[in-house]
Amino acid sequence: MSSSQTRSLFVTGLRNAHAMENQALSVMQLQARRIAHYPDVARRLDQHIRETEEQMRRLETILRQFGADRSGFKDIALSMVGSMAAIGHSIAGDEILKNYFADFAFEHYEIAAYRSLITIAEAAGYEAALPPLKQSLHEEESMAEWLEGNLRSITLRYASLKEIGENPKI
Ligand code: MG
Ligand code: FE
Repeated sequence: MSSSQTRSLFVTGLRNAHAMENQALSVMQLQARRIAHYPDVARRLDQHIRETEEQMRRLETILRQFGADRSGFKDIALSMVGSMAAIGHSIAGDEILKNYFADFAFEHYEIAAYRSLITIAEAAGYEAALPPLKQSLHEEESMAEWLEGNLRSITLRYASLKEIGENPKI
């Protein structure tokens, strides 16, 4: 497996992953700016924003090694879709929870995307691409685990703030 077909499949996958990360970045930046009652979520989002910026640089490096430039237009279109979803959640009374569910789903989307890219890289022998892709996969898995581990406490905090008459939506 190292035909030009495989190569173009891989490059397309890298471009899509770059657009995915750009979308993640704009959504998380919107979310992190609005959070008021959940400082641990804000801190974890800030950490993952920095990781995401690094993930985009990793993808750009691999794309350059494959002689491809990152596609700007698709990135912009996708990041707008993500931002619109975040804005949609901001009018909801339970914004923190809706954003949390969306982030939870998105991290699993990213995990699938990186596992797929790693599968192609392994099958085609693109050895140099493996360490950066595995590093990004690891960061997505850690974020997904964090979200999974904190869902209960965030939900309970939301419920108890509501009980004492606070507006706990963000
Ligand atoms: Mg990511
Ligand atoms: Fe992520």
